[in-house]
Amino acid sequence: MTRMLISKPAVRVADVLDERCDRCGARARLIAYFPSGRSLAFCGHHANRHAAHLTETAGAVVVEPHFAWRGVEEAAT
Ligand SMILES: [Zn+2]
Repeated sequence: MTRMLISKPAVRVADVLDERCDRCGARARLIAYFPSGRSLAFCGHHANRHAAHLTETAGAVVVEPHFAWRGVEEAAT
């Protein structure tokens, strides 16, 4: 399978994310902002589970400090 990364999301770190995971309702550790203007919040579990997809579709990503998001590695490869 060939992966095409047209653009990689800018990853920023926020002090606190006052959001809940849109998938399971747990405290969010990552918020992804999409070019369409939508945003989605993810807990650590779901942020990592969808990391590959998020690095390909999100325009910007905000993570909590000390949250080791898998997507940072995905975006670096
Ligand atoms: Zn979740």
